[in-house]
Amino acid sequence: MAKVKRLGKRKRIALVAHDHKKKDLIDWATYNKVTLSKHELIATGTTGKMLEEALDRPVKRMLSGPLGGDQQIGAMIATGEIDIVIFFWDPMEAQPHDSDVKALLRLCVVWNIPIASDRATADFMLTSPFMNEEYTATIPDYADYLSRDIKEEAAS
Ligand code: PGA
Repeated sequence: MAKVKRLGKRKRIALVAHDHKKKDLIDWATYNKVTLSKHELIATGTTGKMLEEALDRPVKRMLSGPLGGDQQIGAMIATGEIDIVIFFWDPMEAQPHDSDVKALLRLCVVWNIPIASDRATADFMLTSPFMNEEYTATIPDYADYLSRDIKEEAAS
């Protein structure tokens, strides 16, 4: 039987934006301030500071992305502390922490986390009926992976 996790009505939303995308994210969050007020917000350092100022509410702030914040959010995904990710990454500029960005995107898929990388997707996500209801998400079954026989693989 597939494993599931139950998301409450109040979602735990992680928000991250690269520097050239921060204005887009702040505009989007300001426009959706009332809707977002029903949910818990977690963000990388600089994005979180800007969100706190724009929304006049507390945001749980991690380290700045390039200093480990993306990885902190990734770790929270792996331990089931994040329900949704809004990550406005910059497709036009290489980042010093490209490997961390890729790792964060990968963990979202590993744990079946909805992720919006642009404003249109974020709009569709935020207006989904699931945002205001409990939701049962399936968790991919990694039992075979976890019980794999390392010795046999190494021998072949
Ligand atoms: P920042 O990090 O919010 O601290 O700027 C974002 C990022 O991951 O680049």
